[in-house]
Amino acid sequence: MTDELRERKYAQIPELEVRNLCKYFPAGKGRVLKAVDDVSFVIRKGQTLGIVGESGCGKTTCGKTCIGMLMKNSGEVLFQGQDVHGMSKKERFAFTSKVQMIFQDPYASLDPHQKVYNIIAEGIKVHKLAKDRKDEEGQVMRLLEMVGLNTEHANRNVHEFSGGQRQRIGIARALSVNPEFLFCDEPISALDVSIQAQIINLLAELKAERNLTMLFIAHDLSMVKHISDNIGVMYLGNMVEMSPSVELYAKPYHPYTEALLSAVPIADPDASEKRKRILLRGDVPSPVNPPEGCRFCERCTKCMEVCRTKRPPLKEVSAGHFVACHLYS
Ligand code: SF4
Repeated sequence: MTDELRERKYAQIPELEVRNLCKYFPAGKGRVLKAVDDVSFVIRKGQTLGIVGESGCGKTTCGKTCIGMLMKNSGEVLFQGQDVHGMSKKERFAFTSKVQMIFQDPYASLDPHQKVYNIIAEGIKVHKLAKDRKDEEGQVMRLLEMVGLNTEHANRNVHEFSGGQRQRIGIARALSVNPEFLFCDEPISALDVSIQAQIINLLAELKAERNLTMLFIAHDLSMVKHISDNIGVMYLGNMVEMSPSVELYAKPYHPYTEALLSAVPIADPDASEKRKRILLRGDVPSPVNPPEGCRFCERCTKCMEVCRTKRPPLKEVSAGHFVACHLYS
């Protein structure tokens, strides 16, 4: 096969393909918590899928199952065409250098008493990515500069750094093995609002420079707007809407997405005043005992009879824009 043909064939294979993924947990007394229930999506090379939804909607569980941190109950997850849950030990080792995670809480995910150098160099050592100690030092220093830290920071302990700086260390650690895919699990939600934009901008720059593919989890739509090519909205274990980012903000279909968008702050005070905030009634139902039909029906102002008994399938309503709602069946 020529290089061109190989490239073309490779371009057709999504970086990550998730088919009908289900992840359940036992919830006592024979009951089951359906954290992720029949979720499907595709992420192409160099693209970012942002997944949003309230706490407990299953977005983090979905991401962790996609990268094999959690075992699935059913469905399929393919990374570059390879079954993530059916890898040998050797394949899994190679996979861990291609796929890395950035954690939600940099205070909990980094040992405060470790030296920054050791944290960043660990992956380089494990995957034998340096020729010698000098090469390893060079790589660590370049990574520190790449994430906006000073090379003098290498010999300091993690506890000496602020939350934003710790998240930069976490990003440098993830990048140390030259990954192709980053799973970012709410990487800015534990940080000060003033720091959040800096970390998002850093991730966006790194994505462009390294042609990274990303799965980016966030709890509200304002956080994923600028970094996502596509956005998926999850509710109670289901994907209820998925669309190119620009289109989702311009024309949301699902009543839940409309409500989430109505809460996103707008810079223009006039537009903000005119906009009507949609307040959702009630709380998210228990995922152990979700509504039988549409899982959003108890909180939806547009709920119809059919919504209570029949689960709406995810359907394409315009090019690349999918929604699970009987209003568009
Ligand atoms: Fe609302 Fe019915 Fe659509 Fe569910 S299917 S979001 S209840 S209109």
